[in-house]
Formats: sequence, structure tokens, C-alpha cells
Amino acid sequence: MIVGIDLGTTNSAIARWGDGAPELIPNSLGDFLTPSAVSLTDDGDVLVGMAARDRQSVYPDRTATAFKRLIGTQKPILFGTTRFTAEELSALVLKSLKADAERHCGEAVTSAVITVPAYFSDRQRKATRRAGELAGLQVERLVNEPTAAALAYGIADREDRDPFLVFDLGGGTFDVSIVEIFDGVIEVRASAGDNRLGGEDFNEVIAGIAKERLRLPLGTAQAKLREQVRAAAERTRRALSEADSATFDIVWQDELLSTEITAEQFEAAAAPLLDRLREPVLRAMRDSKLHADAMSEIVLVGGATRMPIVRKAVTRMFARFPNATVHPDHAIALGAGVQAGLRERRADLAEIRLTDVCPFSLGVDVMARDASGAAHGGLFQPILERNTVLPASRVHRFVTAHAQQKKVEFGIYQGEARTVAANIQLGSVEIAVPPRAAGEIAIDCRFTYDVSGLLEVDVTVPATGEKRLVVINDGDGLDAAEAEERRAALAALKIHPRDQAANQALIARAERCFESFVGERRALAGQLLAHFEGVLATQDPRAIAEAMALVTDQLDAIEGERYL
Ligand code: ADP
Ligand code: MG
Repeated sequence: MIVGIDLGTTNSAIARWGDGAPELIPNSLGDFLTPSAVSLTDDGDVLVGMAARDRQSVYPDRTATAFKRLIGTQKPILFGTTRFTAEELSALVLKSLKADAERHCGEAVTSAVITVPAYFSDRQRKATRRAGELAGLQVERLVNEPTAAALAYGIADREDRDPFLVFDLGGGTFDVSIVEIFDGVIEVRASAGDNRLGGEDFNEVIAGIAKERLRLPLGTAQAKLREQVRAAAERTRRALSEADSATFDIVWQDELLSTEITAEQFEAAAAPLLDRLREPVLRAMRDSKLHADAMSEIVLVGGATRMPIVRKAVTRMFARFPNATVHPDHAIALGAGVQAGLRERRADLAEIRLTDVCPFSLGVDVMARDASGAAHGGLFQPILERNTVLPASRVHRFVTAHAQQKKVEFGIYQGEARTVAANIQLGSVEIAVPPRAAGEIAIDCRFTYDVSGLLEVDVTVPATGEKRLVVINDGDGLDAAEAEERRAALAALKIHPRDQAANQALIARAERCFESFVGERRALAGQLLAHFEGVLATQDPRAIAEAMALVTDQLDAIEGERYL
């Protein structure tokens, strides 16, 4: 079976092509969204999802979230003395989703379509692909998230050809894409974004207000307090999606601290973030040369677009109401499910082809001479410009810069900056040239880039027929043996037994409530925890199921209903 996976910064979801429509697959807790969180227990067991998310406030240094922001880097994420890369943690999330789907569907999951933000770099895409492989999935294709959103909104079946805009604000990333359908082809005309903007930043706004009013000592040494504040901010912010004001409350050093925050205060404090939503929108419109009026509609994606202040900002920006008919945090997984169906060549799906655009410019470094003839090196010459439709192949002709030079070396870069120093170097290629006067020898440099993210750089010297080809790959310096070692290390990790996932998640939630409240609510959380652990010890499945329902109800009463 092929599945479609939205591997999100905050939440992940998995879908498949069902009876003529994509359908989400619930995890072992019955939820469609699985928090992209990993926690390590004292026994060395790995917990993924809600249980891990709920452990974050109680065990902040044994829990990781939002690691998608680090994917493509080798930065170690530490759990005590155990270290992981973002890619490995992502693999654990994917593994968990795969296991959930296999359990739910009673079928082996062999392959997946995984979504990535449209502007993910080559390196981030490769790392995502590797995470899938580490999880034991054959990664059929990476699909840009806005493309998946377009599939979920059923835009492919529509008659009109007008382009539309996908506005995706998730937990940690903001993506704007202009998408067009043409003869059954979905084309992302332009994409822009800010990979440092999302719901988490809005949490910080709430935390900022609370910190000032409650004089919280949010210093660097207070990891636990910071995490508690974050969780409280998240609760307050979600409550503000439903009401005009909400209470922020936390327990610190046995004292209940609370303050009332109104939607207006939130909106005013979040103004700088709301402003930052404009720039990527403008950039996408500039790149596609399409004006806001040309957009047939504005499609909302990502859980953070449920914030009324965000909807208001979008409405103001476009002078019309956005479309949010598909559940904003399910849209991308559903679209990935459509794509999974297409890969399975399901007859009930009309032929839709996807085109992707290159989300960044790719090029080489060149030298230029100024009016006085002085040479300036290190300038970026794009060969494939961002938003070129893929697959693409472009050639650029260069000439030698110096008299009698014997070779030419091109640095290969990705980015948008004028100087290569500010861009990302992907590799380099060198070729011999016959020594002649400056400018006499031509060198053709061809860049070929396809949807799977493979870049080929092909350099030829027409005068001699000399050729060089480099294929840009991972660039993370891991050799095959190291990669195998990491795979084995990951496979050896003890994953917490699935049939206990719900119990574990409930315990983590009760522990978090115990730490978050004082007085009656704390006492009740303590009693519930003791009761539940007692019933678990009896190993009587019926009693456990009853206790679980009771404890869940009571915790809902303490802190309001679960939000997932
Ligand atoms: P990602 O794509 O980053 O994984 P999601 O699309 O799942 O993220 O969105 C997660 C974000 O959505 C979180 O920051 C969360 O706080 C926010 N969110 C979800 N539901 C609501 C809500 N009802 N009100 C406000 N924010 C919400
Ligand atoms: Mg998302």
C-alpha cells in the first residue's frame, strides 16, 4: 500500500486513497493528527506523538518537538546522553505513522508520498527522503505542501483556469503559493515563504504578554518554566480562536499565576507577526507576475489559520474572504493521499499531472570586471531561476576571465543573494581549458534539475570537446557504512509497545495537569493518576477501558477538552 504523509513541524498526518476519495488514517489514540514529538522514557523507550508532546512540560530535556526546522543539518538533538539528528527523529515519527496505518488497514505499508514546504532546499528535501528510508518506506515522491493542498481542495476537477493562492500557516512555517491548473496539470506558479513564522511565534506573543504582567523569570536556566509557559500560551491562544478573551494560567513554585488576555490585546501584540505575513504574499505575486485580483480564491491551510486574527489579516490583505472549506490541518495529508492514489494508478482518479517549480535559484559563481577593469569574484550567476517549472534544463555560456588560464572552476550554489558567500554552496566542478587570451574560450554550463531534487551540472568546452558532469547529492558527508550504522542504531531503539500508547498518553497528560495546576485541580489530577495506575496494575482490560474513559472525562473537566 502507498500512503500519503504530511510530515509537519507540529503535527503529522497520514492518508490513503480510499473509496473514490482520500481518507485520513487515525493513530492508535484515534486521532488524525499525530504531534511531531519524540520523547525518551527513563527505561530508554521511545514515545512518539501525543504522549511525547504531553511529556514536554514535565520532561523537557528528554523530549523534542519542532525538529523539522533542523532537518538537513547534522545538529545533534540531545536526550540526556543520547543524541539524534532531526532526520532520525523524523524517521521515528514516520515509523510510528507507518505502524498506525498498518494496524488500522491490516496491510503492509511499503511506500509513501511525503510532503515538504515548497521552499525547502535541496538538502532539506534529501534529508526528508532519507528519513522516509530510515523508517523503512520507499519514498515515491516528495510533493510540495501547497500542491498537496490544491489536490485536497479538488481544484484539479474544476472548470475554471484562474490561478489561486494557498496560504499555509502551520506551527513553524509559513508558505504562500500561487497555483494554476491547465489542461489537467497542476502547476505551482510561484512559491515564497518564511520558514521561521508559525503558530509557535504567536505563542511567544502570548508568553510575552504573560511574562511582563506576571513577572515570570524566563531566564535561560528555566527550561521547565519556559515549556510550561509555552503550553499555557498554546491553550490561551486556542481559546482565543473561540472567544473574545481567555485566561492564561500556570503554576510556578506552587503558586497559581493567571491573567486575562483579550483578542484585541493579542491582535495588537501580534501586529509585527501579522505584518510579516505580507512580504511572502507579495513576493509570490511578483514572481508569478499575477495580481491579487487575478486570484480566483485564497485557500487557507495549516492549523494556525484558524486564528481569527490571522483570518482577519488575510481578509484585509486581499479585500475578500478566504476559503477554508477543507479542515485546514488535514488538507495537506489528504492531498498527499490523492497523490498516493495516483501513484497506485487508481482507476477512479482522473489523470492529473503535477508540475513543481524549483523553489530556489541555482547557479554558479562568476567574476565581473568593473569600469576600471578590476576583477570582482564571488558573484552569483543564476542558471535555473527560482520558480522555473521542473523538470528543467538550462545552459549558460561563460568565457575565460584570465589570459593563459588552464582551468575553470565553478562553485555550484543555491540561493537568491547577489554574492555567493550569502548563498549555500552545493558543490563545485572543474574543467581544463586550452590556455588562450582572456575571453577567447567558451565554456557551457548546463543545469538539469528534476522533481525528485536531483541536480546535474554538466560543463563542456566546445573548443576541445572536454566534458565534466557532477551530480549533486546529499552533501552531509555520511558514507555508506555510517548510514548503515545509523539505520541499525535506530532499528535497535525500543519503541514503546503500541497497545500501551493510549495508557502512556493518558499518564503523561495527567502528570502534566498535576504540574500545571494547584489546589483542587492538582489534587484531582493526582488522585486520577493514582487511580489509573492502580487499575493498570490489575491488567484487566475491561477495568482499564472504564478507568480510561473516566480519567479522560475528569481531565477534560480540569483543563477543557483535548484539542486534537
Ligand atoms: P504544521 O504544518 O507546522 O505541522 P499544523 O498545520 O498542524 O502545523 O498547525 C499547527 C499550528 O496550528 C499550531 O501552532 C497550533 O497552535 C495551531 N492551531 C491548531 N488549532 C488551532 C486553533 N483552534 N486556534 C489557534 N491555533 C490553532
Ligand atoms: Mg503543515
